[in-house]
Amino acid sequence: MNWTVPLSDLDYGLDEEQAVLTVLRSKWLTMGAVTQQFEQEFAQAHGAPFALAVSNATQALHLACLAIDIGPGDEVIVPSLSFVATSNAVLYTGARVRFADICGPTELTIDPAEIERCLTPRTKAVIVMHYAGFPCRMPAILEIARRHHLAVIEDAAHAPGAFLDGKALGTWGDIGCYSFFSNKNLSTGEGGMLVTHREDLAARLKNLRSHGMTSLTWDRHHGHAYTYDVVDLGYNDRIDEIRSALGRVQLAKLPANNARRARIACQYWSAFSAAPLTLPFKDQYFSSAESQITNHQSPSFHIFPILLPPGTDRQSFADRLREVGVQTSLHYPPIHTFTYYREHYPGISLPITEAAAAREVTLPLYPTLRPGQIERVIAATLHALEI
Ligand SMILES: *Cc1c(COP(=O)(O)O)cnc(C)c1O
Repeated sequence: MNWTVPLSDLDYGLDEEQAVLTVLRSKWLTMGAVTQQFEQEFAQAHGAPFALAVSNATQALHLACLAIDIGPGDEVIVPSLSFVATSNAVLYTGARVRFADICGPTELTIDPAEIERCLTPRTKAVIVMHYAGFPCRMPAILEIARRHHLAVIEDAAHAPGAFLDGKALGTWGDIGCYSFFSNKNLSTGEGGMLVTHREDLAARLKNLRSHGMTSLTWDRHHGHAYTYDVVDLGYNDRIDEIRSALGRVQLAKLPANNARRARIACQYWSAFSAAPLTLPFKDQYFSSAESQITNHQSPSFHIFPILLPPGTDRQSFADRLREVGVQTSLHYPPIHTFTYYREHYPGISLPITEAAAAREVTLPLYPTLRPGQIERVIAATLHALEI
């Protein structure tokens, strides 16, 4: 399909090309100096003491679960309104998930009261997901976690460069996991990052990332180590220097690109203010986003969700946008409704998640969206609603 307005697009240019060439010519391709620089810069930009680059966010979530010793017999509370990797990561360890509902149709993030409802004596952790880069209710969630001795993992795949009360999303809990998949705010094709403020977890994660080995090829190449021991059941979840080089360039562009996303989201919000749509997060963030959000309170505007009026035929709505070249998507079919999950977790009902997900459509949002494209999306959406 040749979309006039695709759902997302990369902001890639000469700087990315140059960064890749430099790595190729250096002839050091796997984790090394560039990856270390990327980790340091990412840590600094997010105010995180430790950052570890990995192969993707799915594995970041998996390693996060392993680092806090989640395994068979444990339960982890997760939102169902997320990408399936949020929940799969728990299942890889042999633990089980409990699905929590969201706050409501205008706040599509996990409801803290639902975390309390899902608690059992087996609950070991909660994974929260900052939907579209809008913060979950972290103070309330951390308070519940403290009271019940739960670890908190943040699926911050949507949220690099996003802040709540001046603190980066991903750094509120024990471990934060970011994705650098091609359609994410910071993209390297495939890639991810783990952050933590706990030195013990950082050491464990570093080990798990590379076969549980006590030294890396890089260390041995530089004479820092000659042999190694294997002290944990680790994996190969490393990133490579080409992706880290792309990540450094993209990280430098992130604040300006997130601000562009905020401006476009505000344009959508004002254009749709009289339309019969539910606009998630608008009432909470419209004014602050318009006034050029500071680093203090800034979502990352990863995607732009709208909820159609109840009863609208969503497929025909999407078809009408497709006819004028506008691509849309769904975020998300709830995890508990997938066949695999229905078989392993039968009889789950999450009324708020199910109602919101059934009405949700995601419109194109990315920093390089041109004014004419934005107008086309707005006009097509308003027109499709009138029919
Ligand atoms: C993209 C995404 C992931 C998985 O990230 P990968 O880097 O593709 O493994 C996990 N959770 C959420 C919410 C995502 O959007």
